[in-house]
Amino acid sequence: MGLIVRSSEIHAAGCYTTTAIKAAAHVVEYTGPRLTKKEGDDRYENCHYTYLFGLRNGRRVIDGHGIAAFINHSCDPNCETDEINGRVWIIAIRDIKPGEELTYDYNLYDGDFDAPCHCGSRNCRGTMYDPDAVRPAD
Ligand SMILES: [Zn+2]
Repeated sequence: MGLIVRSSEIHAAGCYTTTAIKAAAHVVEYTGPRLTKKEGDDRYENCHYTYLFGLRNGRRVIDGHGIAAFINHSCDPNCETDEINGRVWIIAIRDIKPGEELTYDYNLYDGDFDAPCHCGSRNCRGTMYDPDAVRPAD
């Protein structure tokens, strides 16, 4: 599987595949140091953009350092994430052609900053927050 990082129209840099990927393939693991949620919040206090990925138990986050941290949000993504035995995988939800940018839906659920979406999908909801998330107070 060939993944490269290059400039993206969605956000500064994106992750692209140079080879075809089949639906349901485990594309890449979201790797990086595990922090407690508090350590992550402290480290990125006042930052508007982080690569923290919340684990399902809500107490730990991954400080993304690998290529998966470059994968952008899209409201019409070609990948999803799944946590399997404490490891987070980026998984293709459809066949992906060589040269396509990999995306998944961030579905942000907490945060005290706005996260506008510019993915350009026809069904773009204009934010990276989960549609059901409680939005930060204005
Ligand atoms: Zn969007």
